[in-house]
Amino acid sequence: MWDLSFAIPSLLILGLLLLFYFSLPRLQICMNSAFLCILVLESAIIIADISASYADDRFDSLPLYGVHLLNTVYFMLFFLRAGALFVYTASVLKLWKQKNALVHILISLPMCICVLLSLASPFLGLIYYIDASGYHKGPCYFLVYICYWLYLFISIITWIKYKNNLKRKRQKLGLLLFLIIMCAGIILRQLFPTILLMDTFCLMAVLSVYLSFENPEFYLERRGNVFNTAAFRDYIEENNGHLSGNIVGIVLRYYSEIRDIYSGSQMDDGLTMIAEYLTAEFPGCNVFYHRRGRFIVFFPKSYDKDDLLSRLTERFNRPWKSDNADLSFDAGFIISELEERVPSAEILLATITSGMDKADFGGSRGTVTINRDDMEANLRNSEIKRLLDASIFNDEVEVFLQPLVDAKTEKIVSAEALCRLFDTEGEIISPGSFIGIAERNGRINELGEQVFEKTCRFVKEHDLLSAGIQCINVNLSPVQFLRSDLDERYSGIVKKYCIDPSMVHLEITEESMIDDSFLQKQLAVMVERGFKFSLDDYGTGYSNLTRLKKCPFKNVKLDMAVVKDYCQSPDDILPTMIKAFKQMGFEVTAEGIEDENVAETMKRIGCDYLQGFYYSKPLPMKEFAIKYL
Ligand code: C2E
Ligand code: MG
Ligand code: MG
Repeated sequence: MWDLSFAIPSLLILGLLLLFYFSLPRLQICMNSAFLCILVLESAIIIADISASYADDRFDSLPLYGVHLLNTVYFMLFFLRAGALFVYTASVLKLWKQKNALVHILISLPMCICVLLSLASPFLGLIYYIDASGYHKGPCYFLVYICYWLYLFISIITWIKYKNNLKRKRQKLGLLLFLIIMCAGIILRQLFPTILLMDTFCLMAVLSVYLSFENPEFYLERRGNVFNTAAFRDYIEENNGHLSGNIVGIVLRYYSEIRDIYSGSQMDDGLTMIAEYLTAEFPGCNVFYHRRGRFIVFFPKSYDKDDLLSRLTERFNRPWKSDNADLSFDAGFIISELEERVPSAEILLATITSGMDKADFGGSRGTVTINRDDMEANLRNSEIKRLLDASIFNDEVEVFLQPLVDAKTEKIVSAEALCRLFDTEGEIISPGSFIGIAERNGRINELGEQVFEKTCRFVKEHDLLSAGIQCINVNLSPVQFLRSDLDERYSGIVKKYCIDPSMVHLEITEESMIDDSFLQKQLAVMVERGFKFSLDDYGTGYSNLTRLKKCPFKNVKLDMAVVKDYCQSPDDILPTMIKAFKQMGFEVTAEGIEDENVAETMKRIGCDYLQGFYYSKPLPMKEFAIKYL
């Protein structure tokens, strides 16, 4: 009566899948437990299905209670799988946080009723019955389909409503495919009830999520089989930010340099050995590898922090023996003093990363401790990031103008455009706290262009020349300067406002001068388009006069630290330097003029222009226009 030609191969494939699944370390999160539950249930159902079908075909030669037992177990598991289907969907969609007991009871009710009816079937014959002619569907058999369709329906609705809880597209599509294949399976079961096709379709559904996101390898670092950063994020998110122990970070200092010395494959051996050591030496801990020779380990509270660190230090003081060589690593450690709960995985990761940077490059040889203050600084950074995105998107980046005066006449001759953001309380956020962020996340291009465009509009709308203002300086980040289409983009903006490009000077810092040939090329193209350049913050970098000589700068701006330093302890170096600049044809501006003394000193040693709070703080464009135009 039953055709087992699909069910038996499905069972074999599932067995293979289980073997792979259990051979790899798995992260303890809901989604993985629910998947494991599906895998185990699925295997049990196929076995029960094959056994019950076999028994039904031979009912007259087997004990009746045995045939009943196998059919009852099969139907019970069948209904449990329907419920598990929804539980799995909900756990993938990260709905574990919603712990509403009433909803849980309502959702499990249909499954529980059907399981009870299956249990009662040997006596009441509701789902199935067995008589002298063999196995038959009972009067409540229709519940097999109703129950499945019900759970599939709410799973699909849940997917539609909460699919955006999943960040990755492959997760969204994988889960949808899982549900669609389940639907196909139940339809085929209705159409061809004797072929036992549904098990094969359930296996296909399981495979679809396994291949798209459930494979434990997606959470594993190849070297040493420890967890990766994606696993770290999901683990923290699932625990709702609750930390149940200590976090220790291990940093292999000068990773890139050491990788060059040891070669990539030896370094990989080293990382594998460290990962294996951590998992073997500290059982019960979760070990994560967070790129560039950095490990994060979650230790349960039972571990003593000091003992832990001394064990780690002792181990890292000894070399790691690979097949070919002894590898020695200079390791730095961080330890967290964070409270029980962190705002998000991203903030925790950013805080750990900044602690690791300190342990790596900060020159700190001891253990770096990360605490609440570090986390708050990172929280503030992430708020600034959000604000920056919103301000750029809504064209709300403000431009302030600070006058530059002629050193001889003390009359305003130009101004510097400086960007500002406003937080939700209307407080000003200065560029010091967001330019670096914008440079790192690439938003600096849009930000810089917005400032440039607003400055061009200001130049267009005001008669600067008759107020004696020759130009406005706009800062250009080294990241922007690297763009090969910079000249086209900035020329396009200048043309849009029909202004002369020489009305907007561009200030670049010494960081932009790292690649000499690119610098020369970029400067030449921009100068040809009519732009003029100043070198900003002179004295903070390493440029030498020979290199400067080759650059077509109009002006060199002395950094305020250089100005301050000279005023506190005057020497011959700065005046000589200024003379040299002038011989090279550059004008010289002194930044950070805060009082009359500094202004007089800078005038005396030959600066042409002065900029600083003594003359004016940066002002909003409107105020600047009222005051100076
Ligand atoms: P910068 O280009 O060297 O600008 C001068 C900075 O010195 C400004 O800080 C200005 O407010 C401050 N300043 C001027 N006079 C005095 C003074 O007398 N005393 C003191 N203590 N400070 C003075 P701000 O506006 O905070 O900007 C900081 C830096 O952020 C700028 O340094 C510049 O490198 C960057 N920045 C500002 N706006 C932009 C922008 O639109 N694009 C890019 N890429 N960078 C910008
Ligand atoms: Mg500047
Ligand atoms: Mg400057």
